[in-house]
Amino acid sequence: MKIQRLLIFIYVFLLMTLALCFVMLSKRPDFMAYAADGTLGEAKTEAGSETESGSNANKSNGKEVLTVGVPMDRCPLFYIDVDSNEIVGIGADLMRYVGEEAGYEVVLRQIEEGNLKDALDNSTYDVILPFGSAITSTSGHNSVVTENLFQTPFTLVTLKQDEVPPLDSLKVGMLKSLGGGADTVRQLYPGIEITMYDTMADCVKALRDDKVDALLHNSYVWSYVLQKPSYSDLEVQPEAMFSMDFRAGVRDTVNGREVVERLNAGISKLTDTRRQAVILDYTSRDLYRYDLSDFLYRYGISILLVFLLFIALIIIAIQRVRAVRRENERKLQQMINQDHLTGALSMTGFRKKAAQLIHDNPDTPYLLAFVNIKNFKFINDSLGRRAGDDLLRFWVAETMKTLSDREAMGRVGADHFVVLRISGGEDRLRRDDEEVIGSVRNYFLDRGKENLVLVSGGLYVLTSEDYRHVDVDHMLDLASMAERKIRDKQGDGYEFYNPDQWDKGKHVADVISQLPKALKEGEIQVWYQPQVDYATGEITGGEALCRWKHGKIGWIPPGSFIPILEDAGMIYDLDHYVWETACKDLKRWIDMGIHRSVSVNVSRCDIREDRDLPELFSEMVKRYDVPPELFHIEITETAYADNSEMLIRTTERLRELGFQVEMDDFGSGYSSLHMLKEVPVDRIKLDLRFLTDTGDQEKGRIIIGYMIRMVDSLGMKIITEGVETREQADFLRSQGSTEMQGYFFYKPMPVIEFEDLGSK
Ligand code: C2E
Ligand code: MG
Ligand code: MG
Repeated sequence: MKIQRLLIFIYVFLLMTLALCFVMLSKRPDFMAYAADGTLGEAKTEAGSETESGSNANKSNGKEVLTVGVPMDRCPLFYIDVDSNEIVGIGADLMRYVGEEAGYEVVLRQIEEGNLKDALDNSTYDVILPFGSAITSTSGHNSVVTENLFQTPFTLVTLKQDEVPPLDSLKVGMLKSLGGGADTVRQLYPGIEITMYDTMADCVKALRDDKVDALLHNSYVWSYVLQKPSYSDLEVQPEAMFSMDFRAGVRDTVNGREVVERLNAGISKLTDTRRQAVILDYTSRDLYRYDLSDFLYRYGISILLVFLLFIALIIIAIQRVRAVRRENERKLQQMINQDHLTGALSMTGFRKKAAQLIHDNPDTPYLLAFVNIKNFKFINDSLGRRAGDDLLRFWVAETMKTLSDREAMGRVGADHFVVLRISGGEDRLRRDDEEVIGSVRNYFLDRGKENLVLVSGGLYVLTSEDYRHVDVDHMLDLASMAERKIRDKQGDGYEFYNPDQWDKGKHVADVISQLPKALKEGEIQVWYQPQVDYATGEITGGEALCRWKHGKIGWIPPGSFIPILEDAGMIYDLDHYVWETACKDLKRWIDMGIHRSVSVNVSRCDIREDRDLPELFSEMVKRYDVPPELFHIEITETAYADNSEMLIRTTERLRELGFQVEMDDFGSGYSSLHMLKEVPVDRIKLDLRFLTDTGDQEKGRIIIGYMIRMVDSLGMKIITEGVETREQADFLRSQGSTEMQGYFFYKPMPVIEFEDLGSK
């Protein structure tokens, strides 16, 4: 929209500039009457048509009309006077005088033909001007010419500093309309090579392009043409001048000779004084009229500079307006977003900032504190409002000192504040209490008054749901609810709305911070749970399950740290370690002659667009030189439901590379049957616990029976996990499924024990 306005502005400016040029030029009354090369412009047609009515043999005022054809490309010999719209000029005036002396009413008419030779064949002209000597018309008719009206000097024009070659080897450019003159020149200087051009502009171009050495025209015309600003690189060669006659001519007929004779009589009355007077009159007139191109040539750079300056001014003005507007908006926003008294954010500002921070930092553990001065009313009443205001300002200033740019503080109203803080564990809470709350608590005591400030706070620890759906007001409600619990109690202090979440947060922080060390120092171990063929009693494989032997706490089950690592985006580090270990172990079993497969778990978070898991596994089995079909990859059923398209692609690729892909925890999701249809896995890992732990056991068994048959009919293998009793194992065998894993057979065990099992 703004750019559009700017364009309109520029457009208007351009129009104004053009209009200005036009006005300046049009102030010259005869603007456009002549073109720069001495030809007539628009007015010539008018003049031509006006004078066309005059034809030979007509009589006017009793006098015989003599129609004289003249070329119009040679001001000041012939041109149209814009005031009278008549053809005037040196040639025109002398001819009029001669004609009248010869008893004619002279009517000058522009010759339409391209040159005098063609014009000679046009019988509508009684005579034609100007001839140097008699020539032959295009159709081959001879001509007769009058005596010389006056001598026209012909001059060569070259580019400045160009040397003129000798006349006998000169290449000269001339106007086509000077065809007759060209013949004369050829007769005078046989060595000259003449090229004819339609216009003076073409002549000049040829000269500049070095196609000709010089241009030839009569000096009077040059005196006019060379006034054109863009021809300033041309120069007259005075030493190369010669003269040509200026005669009237007509086809050689009886009539023609008669006209010539009469005109000769007129010419004999033309005195030299008169000739000189006419020539002086026209050569001293300021005839050259600037056209638009001359104007642009002369003032183009200035116009461009003014234009650019103008644009620059516009741009500066626009930028300035924008800057002012931005500044105003900023001030307005500040007024809306900031609390004037304390400098903390207003509630509107806090809401915005807190939501943005939570959204931008999904991995940062935050807590929201709602803080209140319990005895603020008493302070106001006893020490005055000003003291109360000072306290509030002090509080905000002290808190702000401790906040990073990923934290925020807002004033809810009166003495209620809200702070979004990165939860830094108990240490930070203690520090805040000492440094900020402590100094607020003692604010008046430190200033020699006896009032202790009592502060109560409610803390809400953000849950993962709060990061998914950010609702600052809701969190604030919960924090203020916690604050209310201690508001009515004695003294001050703070309370958590969700202490469990706080504990969990501490645990999460511990897990996240300790994993790298645990991986490095071997605290993470890979255990194996054997998989058994119940029909033969043979151990066919083992599932790799990680165990964390924490230095202080002891064994931690995967269920209590894997979801945390998944949330924190760190599961891949752990899994990569487990896969690598499993692959290494598999290689050792092969070398030991133990033929078993290994199953590894792949978290849904491991599978990402930017990570080529199939390639990674493929490279790994190659590196350890183990057959990929012994490497089973378990992907949980619910992961397929979350991101089926990418998982299906990954599964297909893994199978192409020779890996066995298994759908883990089958029966745990809501769309297990749908998954069976959509996902191309090798083996289904049915989790017995999902189907037998609750509800009608008999129905559970019926479902399992049908599932086993269905999976079999679909051409997939099946293994059942979570088998805890002989009864379950027997039932599964009776249904045709003998691959099993569960406590009934073995619990997960360290790798050494697993290997020992094989050698027993
Ligand atoms: P999962 O892949 O379904 O592994 C089977 C889990 O069931 C194991 O628990 C195993 O100890 C337990 N289990 C096996 N037989 C029985 C039985 O008869 N009764 C009962 N009640 N439980 C049985 P664990 O080792 O605690 O692992 C829990 C889950 O943690 C695993 O479920 C798997 O999803 C995940 N997990 C374990 N290790 C890894 C790992 O290295 N990477 C990833 N991404 N996930 C892992
Ligand atoms: Mg598993
Ligand atoms: Mg499982």
